[in-house]
This record gives sequence, C-alpha cells and structure tokens, in this order.
Amino acid sequence: MEKCDVAIIGSGIGGLICGSYLAKAGLKIIVVEQHDKVGGYCTSFKRNGYRFDVGVHYLGGIKKGSLSKIFKELDIKDTIKFKQFNPTDKLVMPNNTIYIKNNIDETVQGFKRAFSRDTKDINKFFKFILDPNFLEIYSKTKKMNFLEFLNEYFKNKELKATLEALLGIGNVGLSANNASAISSILLFREFIADPGWYPKGGIQNIPDTLAKIIINNKGDVILSTKVVEILTKNGEAEGVVLDNGTKIKAKKIVSNVDVTQTFKKLLKINTKQKQLCDELRISPSFFSVYLGLKDKFKEVINNSATIWSFSTYNISNCYSDLRKIINPEEEIQYLLCVFPFLHDKITYNKPTMQILIPAPFESLNLWNGYRNYLMDKLIKKAEEIIPSLGTYVESKINATPYTFYHYTLNRNGAAYGWASTPYIIRKSLFSNRTSIKNLFLASHWTTGGLSHGGIPQVSAIGRKTARLIMEEFGLEWKHKLSVIL
Ligand SMILES: Cc1cc2nc3c(=O)[nH]c(=O)nc-3n(C[C@H](O)[C@H](O)[C@H](O)COP(=O)(O)OP(=O)(O)OC[C@H]3O[C@@H](n4cnc5c(N)ncnc54)[C@H](O)[C@@H]3O)c2cc1C
Repeated sequence: MEKCDVAIIGSGIGGLICGSYLAKAGLKIIVVEQHDKVGGYCTSFKRNGYRFDVGVHYLGGIKKGSLSKIFKELDIKDTIKFKQFNPTDKLVMPNNTIYIKNNIDETVQGFKRAFSRDTKDINKFFKFILDPNFLEIYSKTKKMNFLEFLNEYFKNKELKATLEALLGIGNVGLSANNASAISSILLFREFIADPGWYPKGGIQNIPDTLAKIIINNKGDVILSTKVVEILTKNGEAEGVVLDNGTKIKAKKIVSNVDVTQTFKKLLKINTKQKQLCDELRISPSFFSVYLGLKDKFKEVINNSATIWSFSTYNISNCYSDLRKIINPEEEIQYLLCVFPFLHDKITYNKPTMQILIPAPFESLNLWNGYRNYLMDKLIKKAEEIIPSLGTYVESKINATPYTFYHYTLNRNGAAYGWASTPYIIRKSLFSNRTSIKNLFLASHWTTGGLSHGGIPQVSAIGRKTARLIMEEFGLEWKHKLSVIL
C-alpha cells in the first residue's frame, strides 16, 4: 500500500492549487487524475493538426484580483507569462455593441456612450460594485438575486438586459432572476474590472505549471487512473482505492471532483450530503464547436475579443431546451465566439475558433442524432457576425454536455458546479471541510464561498482547503487571509 500525507482526487485547478500550497509546505502529496492530462476543464487538446482549449478561454483577476495574490504566493507570477488582450470582449446586443476594455474606465465610458440617458445610474452602479470595501457590498447584497440588484440601479430594460447578458448567462450561466447578486458582482470584479488574461503557451500551461510544483516538491501526479473508492474506518477517511486495485493510505483526502460522485459513489458510508446532491440545482453545460480554419482567416479577423452575440433582450429565452434548438424553425438567440489563436500565435500557429452555447444534458441518443446538424446551424448563425465563415472551415468537431462529462466526470457536464443561486450561495452545504473527518473538498462544487465556477473562484477554494489542512497538520500558514473566500 502506498502512503502519503494528502491524496487529492482529480487534477482540476482547485485540486492543483490546493496540492501546490501543501507540497510547498513540505507535505507528501499524491494527485490521482482519470484523464491523461492535468487540468479538468482548464485543458487544451489537438485535433487534425489544430490546437484548441476545452473550455476556459481567458482568466480574470491576474493583476488585481484573487489570482494575482495566489500566483504570487505560489511563486509562479513570473513563471507563467500572462498577456492581457484588448478589447477583451465584444458584446453584440440587438441595438448596441459594447466593448469590454482592459481599462475599466474605458469600459464604463463605453456603457455611457451606448446608454447616454442613463449615465448617472451607470456611475452609481459601477461605483458600488467596484468599492474596495467588499464586506460592505457583501452585507448589502448577500440575500438578493441579480435582477433585484439591477432593479435598484436601473430602469432602462435594455441596459439591464445587457448586464444580465454579460454577467448572468455569460459568466454564471443563469438568468438574472436566478443568479445570486453577490456571485455576479464578484465575477464582475474578476472578469470585467481585470479581464482578458491569457497565458503564454496556452491554457494547458496553467495546470502543467501547478503539477510541476507538486512533482518538484516530492509529490506524485498519477494520470489515466480513476479513484473508485474513498476508504473510511470508524467514519473517518483514511485513503483511496484506484481502478487498478492499488490502495493509497493518506492522512487527509481532498476531493476535487463533483461532490455527487464523492458522496454517492466514492464514499461507501451514509452521509446527510448524499440526499442533498439531488435537491440542489446545478449550473448548465455547453455545446461547443471547435473549428480549424484556413490560414487566410487570419486576414478576416485580427481582433482577439471574445464575441457574445445576443439576438434578443429577453435573456431568459437564451436557455432553450435541446428540442427547441434543433428545430430548424427556431432561431438560436445567443452564442459565444472565441479565437484562441489570436491570443498566442506561436502556440496556436493555425487559426481556430470556438463557438459555444449553453446546453442541457438531455438524452445521449438525441445528442448523437443532432450534434452535427446543430454544429452546422451554429456555424451558419455565426456568419451573421463573421460573413462566409463556413468557407474558411477545414476541420470541425463538437463537444456535447456528454463529452464534457466524459472528460471531467462533472455531473451532467455542469460548467461551473452548483448553480450560483442566492440559496446555494448563502448555505454552507458542501464546505471545504466535510462532516467526515480528514475528508476535504476543493472544486467548483464546494459551497460556502461567494460563487463556485471559474478559475479565480476555484483557485481561492483550493487555497482555503490547503489552509485548513495545514492547520490540522499544525503547520504555519504564512500568507495573509486577504483573498476572498
Ligand atoms: C465550456 C466552458 C468554458 C469555461 N470558460 C471559463 C473561462 O473562460 N474562465 C474561467 O475562469 N472559467 C471558465 N469555465 C469554468 C471553469 O473551467 C471551471 O469552473 C473550473 O475549471 C473547475 O475546476 P475544478 O477544480 O472544480 O475541477 P474540474 O475542472 O471539474 O476537474 C475535475 C478533475 O477531476 C478529475 N476526476 C473526476 N473524477 C475522478 C476520479 N474518480 N478519479 C480521478 N480523477 C477524477 C477529472 O478528470 C478532472 O480532471 C468554463 C467551463 C466550461 C465547461
């Protein structure tokens, strides 16, 4: 039987950040990952000679937010070279186009130009959400949904829908009346106030660098191996069993994987969380099209902004069910276009584009029957923004929510863990330290923070889990407690 101080199940960013802090503190870490590479949703892959990012298309908060502190604490601020592109996002609404710039004042100006009658409201709104005193914001908004919060500042429906488009569906994956106000504000501070950071060498460089910290500090990262059981004795976690039969004995265990899997599959004992898993709402998944494009596409597009295109101000209409979006009569109301090759022309030496829409898990048969049809429908829809896109396509593949599930085992391919609703945000239902002694959580399914999904959030969750574990080992936590969460 192998032995270690801390066994980490899953090598998503939450698990790797947690493992990096612990390995640097001198603990013996073993990370077990079912896929053949580290990173979970934060990975890249190659197909037909083209390189793509699976999901994460850029990071927020590298200069001013939580990631800037975490990377500094882990001494990798200069190891991974980040570039901030500008503009970072182009939001195409039916009557307006707004650019998110890497300078927040310019972004605010853009809103004021587009909604010139609402400049006072816009000033008040931005002043509030960018207030350095985050506790003040938290205490005022913690019980609100995002729509209630927007209603306090704005009357203009188109302006509210524009902010809902950007922060609701775009980043939390929910409409404003479902999304927690505090999660949306937090995302705003990470992704709109300090947006558009992309690592040199591509997205895969982030998890690879974190895995190196663990390996260089005498840890192990075991790939292509699944954890099939968390061992317990007298109700306390004491190790994990791998799918090749190996047992690893560990003083502490961190689950970086979907909590439904953790409590319903990996743990063989009964816990109150087991039932809770079925009661809470999960975030949506995506349908993603990955396009490999002819070289001359470089002449068509040279602005690397992510494009969010909405054909409606009724944002809740953007959550169509699968039967609706595969109906030839139905127009697709929203899509997101990403151009990774423009962020790093050396790593991504051939033009690529990703088109995304939020999508339900539904049935595998239905997806298999319609995925290629839907892919072509999305390419056609994207031609409204990039004329003749189809003529540049050399290679096209797609990922359904089942694909996202297959590669990460996130329940129903959920993109951000639990849905960040006010109820789930307020309750500490799956916090970093579980009710089972020695078992901890560090993924976007960990609750008790202010939001779940996204690299800044999950990194802060991983950091907090590391701090709690170090306390239990009696090790000194040398860093300030200033990172949110
Ligand atoms: C399409 C898409 C786009 C996104 N875009 C962005 C973005 O631009 N910016 C951003 O910040 N965030 C983005 N996100 C969200 C972000 O990617 C996630 O919130 C975050 O990466 C989740 O990290 P995690 O640590 O929870 O682990 P995950 O990424 O969920 O990884 C979990 C890991 O555990 C492994 N695993 C599961 N079960 C087992 C087992 N039994 N044994 C061993 N290993 C196991 C999986 O293989 C996986 O590697 C996006 C997500 C998606 C899906």
